[in-house]
Amino acid sequence: MSIRTDHPGTLAQDRGRAFSTRALSTTTTPGDGHAARATPIYLTAGFVLDDFDHAHARFAGESEDDGFVYTRHGNPTTRTVEARLASLEGGDEAILLASGQAAVAATLLGLLSAGDRLVSSASIYEGTKGLILEHLGRFGIGVDFVGDPADPAAWEAAITDRTRAAFGESIPNPRNDVLDIPTVAGIAHRHGIPLVVDNTLATPALLRPLEHGADVVVHSASKFLAGHGAALGGAIVLAPADRWDQSRYPQLAERTGPDGLTALDRGGDRAFAIYLRDLVVPRLGAAPSPINAFLIGQGLETLAPRVERQSENAATIAAFLAERPEVARVDYAGLPGSPHHATARRLLGDGRGSVFAVTLAGVSFAARAVFDAVEVFTRMTHLGDVRSLILHPASTTHLPRTPAELESSGIGPGLPRLSVGIEDVQDLLADLAQALDAIGRPVPAAVEADGSPDGRKAPALPGPVTGPAARAATSPVALAHRALTAQEA
Ligand SMILES: *Cc1c(COP(=O)(O)O)cnc(C)c1O
Repeated sequence: MSIRTDHPGTLAQDRGRAFSTRALSTTTTPGDGHAARATPIYLTAGFVLDDFDHAHARFAGESEDDGFVYTRHGNPTTRTVEARLASLEGGDEAILLASGQAAVAATLLGLLSAGDRLVSSASIYEGTKGLILEHLGRFGIGVDFVGDPADPAAWEAAITDRTRAAFGESIPNPRNDVLDIPTVAGIAHRHGIPLVVDNTLATPALLRPLEHGADVVVHSASKFLAGHGAALGGAIVLAPADRWDQSRYPQLAERTGPDGLTALDRGGDRAFAIYLRDLVVPRLGAAPSPINAFLIGQGLETLAPRVERQSENAATIAAFLAERPEVARVDYAGLPGSPHHATARRLLGDGRGSVFAVTLAGVSFAARAVFDAVEVFTRMTHLGDVRSLILHPASTTHLPRTPAELESSGIGPGLPRLSVGIEDVQDLLADLAQALDAIGRPVPAAVEADGSPDGRKAPALPGPVTGPAARAATSPVALAHRALTAQEA
């Protein structure tokens, strides 16, 4: 079954127009005669087949119309949002899925077969790491992690003759070690393989990886693309596969349709895109609801101004936190002192991102105090929301990881992650200031007596450490170690 995609990419009328104009572009939804300006929601499982010949033509991909048959294979609402996202990422086409995790899974399962290997930055989203290690591993797909993604030689050394894809994130979370996409793409292409970049944290408003040499972009659309935090979604955006060698992927040379043609026969440079859209994505089954597709489309319209404001707020907050005595370290590539600042300037320009980690002196004791004291920030596992959010990864999302794994990911017990929203920055600063002040307050008896490891150990941990000298003496790794041993004791 193949649905007419007529290369959504940039719509003819949009060529030459700026990002924020294209975000509001007229829809490509097939005309239903009502001329709705907002994207209509086609909430239907299937599409009516007129007669025997029409049914055949639609399934054979030969009908004169849009070719929709069943929403798992494609839907007009979803298709409109895909066209808009492809345009914003500068891609040839986009595929919307039910979640970001589904987008990563479909992309990797489309590229890799048993016996193949993936080379990946070690600095990636926890869910993706779990997928690669615990699931792809079970199907005979190996992974080589690059511990220092900023080192080109480390990427070179990790690529074997069985490696069939390279993976990284544009702005990794929480370390903010911005990926040098042009360099890694160059290495991948010399080995004939594509570079897949998870662009969730940068968004196309700040960085368009395909313009820097990446071949496939994946997104958790649940985050910035939607922005409102009201829907889950994922996306895959594809450039034509003219920078890597599709002939090394046997799955693209297998018969795909009733015409007996293969994805390579049908698509040339679009073979991988056709294979993903027609076979992999519908068979894995993570189709987005047209309602969620609509909500993501609404989010895309305001992406640029939201991200701009979030970046500005985050830069102000990061600079404020870096000066506070309770803070040992701020991992924000937008700060001139960050080791990743130069790469960030080169790839993100003035944009800086709005998700970053703060390491508090006084570790879990301090993290608990700040986490519990915030009033404007919301305690939640999510990011890229219009609201500011705070999370303590070591005690939540990263619970399954061992202390050694946490340390290598740069996640200590004193590390809260912030995702900065669009609120008034003065209110956010005041909220963080009063939350940091809470570190100095005595631990309430209730917490000490509650039997929780932190409550019990809190008095044994270094209390609030203050002053620049103390800051230098308390590297986050040393503090993390001390806290973890204290908890084990
Ligand atoms: C959240 C996230 C994902 C997973 O997306 P879901 O929509 O939650 O499935 C993948 N990558 C990154 C970088 C994320 O932040």
